[in-house]
Amino acid sequence: MSDKHKMTQERWNYLMQPFNGDESVMLTAQELDDGWHWCDEWDGLLIHSDDREFEHCKCDFMKKFRTPERMEKMKQQQALDDKADIDNALGFFGPNDNNEMDGI
Ligand SMILES: [Zn+2]
Repeated sequence: MSDKHKMTQERWNYLMQPFNGDESVMLTAQELDDGWHWCDEWDGLLIHSDDREFEHCKCDFMKKFRTPERMEKMKQQQALDDKADIDNALGFFGPNDNNEMDGI
């Protein structure tokens, strides 16, 4: 189990348990500050503002996390991932295919 954005998997699982009236299952102020929230766009999935899912988050109260820098970074990551998908689909594994560049 690995920690994500300072939250342990255990803690995440705890926060994602179905609500049964236990009001103590709540994000701390610190966690909210870090960028965690249950996202309406994802049917209440607990996500962090650095998660890929955040790209589709439309929650008003998360506006302060939607900085131009972060959105730009997400777009770039998305582009990289798309490219990786295409490379995999074509069976292209090329970082060592630069030999023909030698001696130019
Ligand atoms: Zn959201």
